[in-house]
Amino acid sequence: METHARVVIIGGGVVGCSILYHLAKHGLKDAVLLERKELTSGSSWHAAGVIHTINADPNIARLQGYTIKLYNELEDLTGQSCGIHRPGGIYLAATPERLDYLKQERAKARYMGLETDFISLEHARELNPLIDPKKYLGALFEPVDGHVDPSGVTHAYAKGARHYGAKVYRDTPVIETKQRPDGSWDVVTPKGTIRAEILVNAAGLWAREVGRLAGLELPVQPMEHHYLITETIPEVRDHGKEVAVTVDYEGNAYTRQEHQGLLLGTYETNCVPWAVNGTPLDFGHELLQDDLARVTERLETAFERMPALGRAGIKKVINGPFTFGPDGNPLIGPVPGLKNYWTAVGVMAGFCQGGGVGLCMAEWIIDGEPSIDVWGMDVARFGSFATRDWGRIKSAENYSRRFILTYPNETLPAGRRQKTTALYDRLIARGAVMGVSFGLEHALWFAGSPDKAKETPTFRRSNAFAHVAEEIKAVRQAVGMIEIANYAKHELSGPGAEAFLDRMLANKLPKEGRLALTPMLTPKGKLYGDLTVARMEKDRFHLFGSSAAQEMHRRWFEKYLPEKGVAYHNRTDDLQGIAIAGPNARELLSRLTATDVSNAAFKFRDIKRMVVGLVPALVARVSFSGELGYEIYVAPQYQLRLYEALEEAGKDLGLRIYGGRALMSMRLEKNWGVWTLDYRPDFTAAESGFDAFVAFDKPADFIGKAAAIAERKRGPSKKLVTLVVDTKDVDCVADEPIFHDGNCVGYVTSGGYAHSVKKSMAMGYVPKALAAHGTKLEVELLGEFYPATVTATPLYDPNGGKMRG
Ligand SMILES: Cc1cc2nc3c(=O)[nH]c(=O)nc-3n(C[C@H](O)[C@H](O)[C@H](O)COP(=O)(O)OP(=O)(O)OC[C@H]3O[C@@H](n4cnc5c(N)ncnc54)[C@H](O)[C@@H]3O)c2cc1C
Repeated sequence: METHARVVIIGGGVVGCSILYHLAKHGLKDAVLLERKELTSGSSWHAAGVIHTINADPNIARLQGYTIKLYNELEDLTGQSCGIHRPGGIYLAATPERLDYLKQERAKARYMGLETDFISLEHARELNPLIDPKKYLGALFEPVDGHVDPSGVTHAYAKGARHYGAKVYRDTPVIETKQRPDGSWDVVTPKGTIRAEILVNAAGLWAREVGRLAGLELPVQPMEHHYLITETIPEVRDHGKEVAVTVDYEGNAYTRQEHQGLLLGTYETNCVPWAVNGTPLDFGHELLQDDLARVTERLETAFERMPALGRAGIKKVINGPFTFGPDGNPLIGPVPGLKNYWTAVGVMAGFCQGGGVGLCMAEWIIDGEPSIDVWGMDVARFGSFATRDWGRIKSAENYSRRFILTYPNETLPAGRRQKTTALYDRLIARGAVMGVSFGLEHALWFAGSPDKAKETPTFRRSNAFAHVAEEIKAVRQAVGMIEIANYAKHELSGPGAEAFLDRMLANKLPKEGRLALTPMLTPKGKLYGDLTVARMEKDRFHLFGSSAAQEMHRRWFEKYLPEKGVAYHNRTDDLQGIAIAGPNARELLSRLTATDVSNAAFKFRDIKRMVVGLVPALVARVSFSGELGYEIYVAPQYQLRLYEALEEAGKDLGLRIYGGRALMSMRLEKNWGVWTLDYRPDFTAAESGFDAFVAFDKPADFIGKAAAIAERKRGPSKKLVTLVVDTKDVDCVADEPIFHDGNCVGYVTSGGYAHSVKKSMAMGYVPKALAAHGTKLEVELLGEFYPATVTATPLYDPNGGKMRG
């Protein structure tokens, strides 16, 4: 065995083998995979092997489509059978809500280039004779779905990887991983030690144990999962062709043909996390004791829906463990704070997602960035709040909800109140309906009293609508306050901070006491952040940005940080605060501070230290609502005092507390996008309109400069536009397709109702030729087509006079 490799992958399941294959295929041949026993010695050998494209995250769905299409290529290359069956997949809806969900999935598939479409229930029965059409309202069909042989696929990846020059070592357990001073890793096995420039943990069922070898606690959890294989079912035997893979959501079952019977799997609500204290090191090609009683209730529903299933004898029961992440999606990429350590863990559908995960990991390692935004799978979307026990609770919640509908306005209940601020009880007492971002609770909207604080989960407008309208009215006409503990705050300081940030950020750095909005770009010119940078002192800067992306941004800064001269700190938890906005905001602030906050003394985009309501604060004159506004940041121990002071002083000014929903509505009528939705690494500066904040002429060679200049010359092919959508009781959320002359030309990245201008609005990307003000388009929303018109100027306060005044 060699003593050095550019990349060492731990784990020879489908995921590790796919990463190795993709690295070698894309030219990185100095890659080695170490497997404890035989390949497929974890979850991979006993998977049902079902493959499908549907995923709530469109980019993950896209990667699932890639994975499924890859199998033929793999077979051709390696001669290793992947056992591909493609009878297609049917997704059945038995309730109007589930039908809405399927309409959304179909809509997404349109712009992803997938062939998913509705078929008649009669047609569905032709594809699966066990279906009783009377029990359903609709059926979606995906022609590429089917199933594969898990062992065949894993071995084909390994064979393909060897073909391209990578190495696989079996019977080589990794027993230690030690980091060297230069950041590389000593990977210790009984056969010797390999020094890895990059280490990849793809240890599936043992991801936690392998993580701990490097001092890393991963929030993933193996879950027990049952499927049954029936005896021969006459309807299946006599069908004449393979029965389509079928998902019956309300019936809680997925099925595929196995010989002349069916394989039937289900996700039970009373699910069982397996090996909570650690996966036994000697576990291998074993199965777990089955417990049919646990899945009986779910199976009864399935048998009711497909009676022939209920009549069939059971030939075999499989109960095997596989690993879930807290939100059901994988955790991939470089781990923030642990140099050269990458994960590809929590991949719960390895045969649907393994190819895409392998592709993205390889692109990321080789090119420094994946070709599409992988935020939905990025390990950096979890931070220190995602402890092992929190991970277990959330992973179990996700397992149990696999067939349960989650609405766009719904937040899930498990593992809540993991992080709160001192205002939590006060906000709850005001009837706050809470959401969660990066583990921290924050108010979405206020129902007035705790007994009314419940939102109806829906695809349409919810009971929050009228309350949000009232909150916005108060902000637009008087003054509102919103807790901003959930904004990310980064601090960079030291003699090299200015030069460092000049390279990291595409805009010019502000003068002392001033703020600037700036994009952060990747070397390929993709957006990697939309940040507000404040220069506190000559050599000390604060950056304010997306809370969800705080670890992702930390990783980015640390990647480029020089050896000395610049210190980085994530200050998000050290600075909380409250923003105030509205025509009375200045009056409110002036009542609480001795500092002169007149327009002349405290200008738009100024930032100052001052005492506010007795407590030391950092006040920035900015606003995301479009009103005159101030963000007042304080240390957590002053949060409650600040709140009480504002509440008291604002009584006669019409002060009202508001939540995130109101803010998201107000920014829409200002044509402002948000990170993770409208702004993300899928788009460039020019496409998103952020080129207005790129200082092309600044001397610093900022990251992405060459790409941004090239794009400016060439012009972007698509543009982010704001749309007024002509609907009555439904609004865009995200991922709805946009049409022009009957052709799908783009998709919505965010949407909602803009209460002050009383219009349904959306933002989305369309070809540049269709981005002009007044262009008539259409948006598909829950199966209906609605006229949509591009509005290039904000409908609310187009000149920004209110904000600057
Ligand atoms: C009953 C059941 C049904 C399923 N059905 C489907 C399905 O229909 N479709 C689908 O897509 N997915 C399905 N899955 C899930 C699928 O099996 C997993 O997503 C997939 O196997 C995960 O692969 P992996 O490579 O991440 O992990 P694993 O398969 O667990 O592989 C990890 C590998 O790492 C090795 N390893 C661990 N520690 C070390 C170490 N210290 N040193 C060296 N090597 C080490 C292990 O020996 C193992 O081979 C199912 C799973 C189960 C249990």
